[in-house]
Amino acid sequence: MIEVKNLTKRYGPTVAVDNVSFNAKAGEVLGFLGPNGAGKTTTMRVLTCYLSADEGNATVDGYDVFDQSVEVRKRIGYLPESAPLYLDMGVIDYLKFIAQVRDIPKSQRQQRTKEVIDICGLESVIQKDVGELSKGFRQRLGLAQSLIHNPPILIMDEPTSGLDPNQIIEIRNLIKEIGKEKMIIFSTHILPEVSATCSRILIINNGKIVANGSPESLAERAKGGEVVDITIRGPAEKIESKLQGLNFVNEFDCVNTVDGLLSYRIASEKGTNAAEELFQLVVQNGWSLTELRQESVSLEDVFRELTGESVNKEVAA
Ligand code: ADP
Repeated sequence: MIEVKNLTKRYGPTVAVDNVSFNAKAGEVLGFLGPNGAGKTTTMRVLTCYLSADEGNATVDGYDVFDQSVEVRKRIGYLPESAPLYLDMGVIDYLKFIAQVRDIPKSQRQQRTKEVIDICGLESVIQKDVGELSKGFRQRLGLAQSLIHNPPILIMDEPTSGLDPNQIIEIRNLIKEIGKEKMIIFSTHILPEVSATCSRILIINNGKIVANGSPESLAERAKGGEVVDITIRGPAEKIESKLQGLNFVNEFDCVNTVDGLLSYRIASEKGTNAAEELFQLVVQNGWSLTELRQESVSLEDVFRELTGESVNKEVAA
């Protein structure tokens, strides 16, 4: 549905988007994750025809974003980071106005306005002016305006930025709901946001895509090997000579000894079922096992490894 090939965008000497290529298919909820200044907004602005790129090309449903921008805009709903709203208009009037701008036939405008009010949970504020709305409701209204022409693709730039934790959860739930019917691309610098909502993640850093995959596959990718923490009651010398004899064990450290309990951190080759093998070893030798834990690699580890930055964990919902 979306194909981006070798896209580059410069602002003077700054290369904001650097030879970026990716595809997105119908049914996907794609998260652009990256630190501030990574190039997420610029990529979205090119895809939504607000900016032209210096090199490369992008198509939406087969239409070129540079040469066929009217067709592209029909297929995309765009919610920029600060939705441009007319503060002195009433909520309904604003949506009807957007419906008109979007060229929705007059006979369908009322129906479509009603539908997006419903989808975005705006019923309780329809009597208000836009300027009276809280930040959360303004964001919902921004979402409603981006959906009014019923586009198959929704692109959102930091949709939860500046919202309070409850509003963030509400918007995330809305994204999930809408994602059942539409392809969604949204950007964020907040890690739990992508793990909570996305089917695929693109990690962007310094204008480049440094990773592309499902949350699970990215975590898997960062695993160079497996690490198992194990605590055993048994004879230290014998345990250590057995561990040394296991060919899948790369190295082990005795990290703690308390009351005859020996805790080891064992690093092994990837995909060796180390935890299971170690369990068998303990059983076969009649030792007792008090702890066996395989360390999991989180998306946060991947992000840190790929971008050299710690992630913003503002709302760990
Ligand atoms: P993100 O959305 O990931 O925070 P942006 O796409 O906004 O990143 O920015 C990417 C880079 O381009 C940053 O270095 C930013 O300072 C620069 N940049 C963005 N917009 C402009 C602009 N209008 N003029 C000059 N530089 C810009």
